Formats: sequence, C-alpha cells, structure tokens
Amino acid sequence: MCSIGGAAMNYNDYPTEPMGDGSLYRQCKSCKVPVLEINGELDKHRPWCEYRQEMKARQLRDELLEENLWLRFLLGQVFHSLPEQRDWLDPEIEKGMKAALESKPRTGR
Ligand SMILES: [Zn+2]
Repeated sequence: MCSIGGAAMNYNDYPTEPMGDGSLYRQCKSCKVPVLEINGELDKHRPWCEYRQEMKARQLRDELLEENLWLRFLLGQVFHSLPEQRDWLDPEIEKGMKAALESKPRTGR
C-alpha cells in the first residue's frame, strides 16, 4: 500500500508553460498562475485549476481510505470482543460485520 496521511507532499509536478510575455518565467499550464507565485503551494493555484483539483481529489481519497482502515480496525476490535454467545445480535448485522472485515478496501490505485 502507498503511504497515506501525513506524508509531506511537494506540489511541483504540474505542467508549466512560458509566460509568453518574453520573460523567462513560467506559469501553470492550467490556471496560468506564475510558478514563482505558486512556490509549491497547492492553494496558490486558482480554485478551478485542473492540477489543484486533481491533487485535492487525491488528498480526499487518501483521507477517506485512512478513515476506512481506521473504522475497519475499530469494527474488528468490537467484533472480536463480543462474547461467543451472541444470539442477541441480529444475524444480518453479524453477517455484515464479517463481510466488511473480510473485504479489501478499494484504494483506487
Ligand atoms: Zn494551476
């Protein structure tokens, strides 16, 4: 699995193009903000920038995956702490818990 959460990320791999005014400086190909102004900070791109949106979507996906793994861990803890005798538990719920614990989280990678 790829590293998730807390990994320091450098947002410098976006496509750039010359600023086109004869200067030597470059700008983001999508939102046209100068590279010098962006300075590696994702939020310096325009909100509608394709690169920024892609990176934000990845961040969200990683956060959701991390949360999913945490919830599975908690569910496993709860499930394995249950007493052997559990006819008080709705069989459908028990079935659902087992299925959730056995299924692999979809990472989309
Ligand atoms: Zn951009």
